[in-house]
Amino acid sequence: MRERLAAERIDGVGTSIFTEITALAARHDAVNLGQGFPDFAAPDFVKEAAARHIREDRNQYAASPGVPRLREALAVDWRRRHPDKPAVDPDLEITVAAGATELLHDAILATVNPGDEVIVFEPAYDAYAPGVSMAGGITRTVALFQPNWSFDAAHLSAAFGPRTRALILNTPHNPTGKVFSRADLEIIADLCHQYDVTVISDEVYSEITFEATHLSIATLPGMFDRTITIDSMGKTFSVTGWKIGWAVASAALTSALRAVHQFVTFTSGTPFQEALADILPIAARDGYYDKLREDYRRRRDLLTRVLKQADLDPLPVEGAYFLLTDIGGRGFDGDADFCRRLVTEFGVAAIPTSAFYTDPRRAPALARFCFAKKEATIEAAAPRLAPLARRRVPGTAHPRSGI
Ligand code: PMP
Ligand code: GLN
Repeated sequence: MRERLAAERIDGVGTSIFTEITALAARHDAVNLGQGFPDFAAPDFVKEAAARHIREDRNQYAASPGVPRLREALAVDWRRRHPDKPAVDPDLEITVAAGATELLHDAILATVNPGDEVIVFEPAYDAYAPGVSMAGGITRTVALFQPNWSFDAAHLSAAFGPRTRALILNTPHNPTGKVFSRADLEIIADLCHQYDVTVISDEVYSEITFEATHLSIATLPGMFDRTITIDSMGKTFSVTGWKIGWAVASAALTSALRAVHQFVTFTSGTPFQEALADILPIAARDGYYDKLREDYRRRRDLLTRVLKQADLDPLPVEGAYFLLTDIGGRGFDGDADFCRRLVTEFGVAAIPTSAFYTDPRRAPALARFCFAKKEATIEAAAPRLAPLARRRVPGTAHPRSGI
């Protein structure tokens, strides 16, 4: 037998931090504020829609690009989101797949040749760099700086070059909660035009925003034709296990994306796709999205209070469902040590932000706490976190220092 069974393309691709921390949390019976998934019930109208389609036997393969009536509903939903922009064609410009994770992978494989460079803002969701390297591409990172996670336009401009093929954007942003402003997006768009670069825009938290408005880069002048916009029902409808995502892109990019998708999964859960076709118009009609934001605002404020009581002062967030706190000055050896010991000694799970950096040594010492949790779950973390307040080593820096 060969000495080496694994292909070189997976060198350096380890176990995801979310898998690691969730397993550790279960072993230590910890309050899990780590992996980003809701621990509360999905809405009844969402669950009932899927149950109905399963009962009515829509249980066989869907068409590879997605159930036609779902693509039509997604085209109507694009109109709701972007009323003053051109409509999208459900037959040629929308593709449904097994969650945003698959679409990210499909989009990278569909656009990046071996040796091409892909620009990613860092910290970055952990799937991007492995996706790029599996396609034979090279990730170039551009730093976002705390506390409001701005980037330096000169750094961004310096990252572009003749080998740049794509830029992966994520707004609202995991893990920082940044919502890219129009000015941010204009800087990015100008450089993408100048260097003829495709944008893969991960917008899975599009409906979870607070003091900011989500803007899709595809709606900026001239950008639709060079952007693959990816979204997912997991976060918006609190069903991360359903794994239904969609991509909106020009006919040319959609055709490339579908070529990959048909041989990755071919299609994804038919009754869940049928359900989403029913859910979208109900959500738009019944004020679902405002209620979603309101509920998340309450959970965010509750987790903020709980963290502050433990002297873990969170950075401001504009969107998504995570809070970042500085963990310096308490005698921990960085964020990974903090998160490991938080689970094993304090019984609370959080994610070390260094997992979102290609070189963890560049990461500020921040822990990510998820507030997609029942209020009772967040409250249960309070007494467990409280002893941290007494751990601050006198004379050490205030949490807002760093990077
Ligand atoms: N992108 C980001 C930024 C995420 O946080 C997540 C995970 N929740 C995903 C993509 C994956 O989405 P999905 O579950 O639809 O594959
Ligand atoms: N997106 C989720 C998070 O950031 C986790 C998804 C996963 O487990 N891969 O926590």
